[in-house]
Amino acid sequence: MNVHESEKLAGILEQKGYIKGQDVNNADIVVFNTCCIRESAEQKILGNIGAIKPIKKKRKNMIVAVCGCMSQQKDMASNLRAKFPFIDIVFGANNVEFFGEYLDTYLEQKKFLNKVENDKQYLENATGVPFVRDNSLYAYVNIMYGCNNFCTYCIVPYVRGREKSRNPDEIYKEVKTLIDMGYKVITLLGQNVNSYGLDGSTKGVYFADLLENIAKMEGDFELRFMTSHPKDLSDEVIKVMANNDKISKSLHLPVQAGSNKILKAMNRNYTKEMYLNLISKIRDAIPNITLSTDIIVGFPGETDEDYQETVDLLKQIRYHNAFIFMYSKRKGTIAEKMDNQVPLTIKRERIHNLLDIQHQISEELFKNMVGTIQRVLIESFDTKFYQGKSQCGKVVKIENNYKSKIGEFYDILITDYLKGNLIGKVYNGRKEN
Ligand code: SAH
Ligand code: SF4
Repeated sequence: MNVHESEKLAGILEQKGYIKGQDVNNADIVVFNTCCIRESAEQKILGNIGAIKPIKKKRKNMIVAVCGCMSQQKDMASNLRAKFPFIDIVFGANNVEFFGEYLDTYLEQKKFLNKVENDKQYLENATGVPFVRDNSLYAYVNIMYGCNNFCTYCIVPYVRGREKSRNPDEIYKEVKTLIDMGYKVITLLGQNVNSYGLDGSTKGVYFADLLENIAKMEGDFELRFMTSHPKDLSDEVIKVMANNDKISKSLHLPVQAGSNKILKAMNRNYTKEMYLNLISKIRDAIPNITLSTDIIVGFPGETDEDYQETVDLLKQIRYHNAFIFMYSKRKGTIAEKMDNQVPLTIKRERIHNLLDIQHQISEELFKNMVGTIQRVLIESFDTKFYQGKSQCGKVVKIENNYKSKIGEFYDILITDYLKGNLIGKVYNGRKEN
């Protein structure tokens, strides 16, 4: 989401005649697009803003802007300005589209501008905002903004507001343009894409309809989406995924924890049993699916037994990939006030242990891919190999590269798994040696 918003910021700046710089020492404007999902993200950004101070001292006219989720927090704009008086503009995650206006105002008034607003949320039609996409093959498309779920650890609903779905016709138009431009992987974005349309604003178009309608569009492309909340992933969506070749057979389905007690305390609205049932439904419908997940260790009240349930769940489900985080206290959330916080030493122990377990599972699953045929988008060529990524995001190096073309999909017979990469050959319907 943040990467995509940076593409919007770049688009707005290019429209105003700025060009992307290579060296911050020569910049006319520096924009920090922040994230506050965990404390470590905030620390990183504070360090980076601090590092600008000596440059700004030399380049008095350089404009420093800070935006994104972190600045959307209560009182953050004034706190940031107090800490870093050289910041010129602060605006929030909810009004990125208005950056151009803010810049004009600043250039006119040359006065600190605090534009963290809640009322100007989300343009109905984001299609009018220019984007500068960094990648020419992969494109993100927002289908909804905000989140209604209030998982007790999470700051997103506080900084990004309530769910709001975009008009489906605008989405179709944007996706169609991207396909015509030659983008090959379209990723639909939302904090919980499965609740698309549930706010009643899409005239009865729900996520399964949106997926199906896009999957039916002409062109050689792959359709992905993130993120799915397990409580809302419907049978219709599973069916549409199973029946449409253009929809990626890779699914990110964050489970967060394996213990029902912790899931309840997290307000996730499903039990381990419900989640497992969902996974078997998905695997029955789409046998070649690759799964990934998010896990939080050390949520308040997580005992050794609770943690062990997460370990067991990971071993049982065997995800190709898992993003594992230590619980991080976020100001204003419900979990912040829970009094049974887990000490850092235990959180560290658990994360290291879980990362080791997951690493072993991933290695086994990728080794098991040897002998299978994977659809791969070729992205680049180095001196020896064409290289691309499988649907689950794994790097694949192609040996018989003379047949490959950058930006095209190929069926690749996987021949080996070496140092974290899959090795393969273009497959022509027969398994050549
Ligand atoms: N909306 C998406 C993802 C949101 S943030 C979803 O619900 O799946 C991405 C991940 O960050 C979450 O899945 C969660 O695992 C992690 N996360 C969120 N808040 C956190 C916190 N306070 N501490 C540690 N990890 C957190
Ligand atoms: Fe955060 Fe939960 Fe919303 Fe995801 S679904 S953004 S984890 S509150």
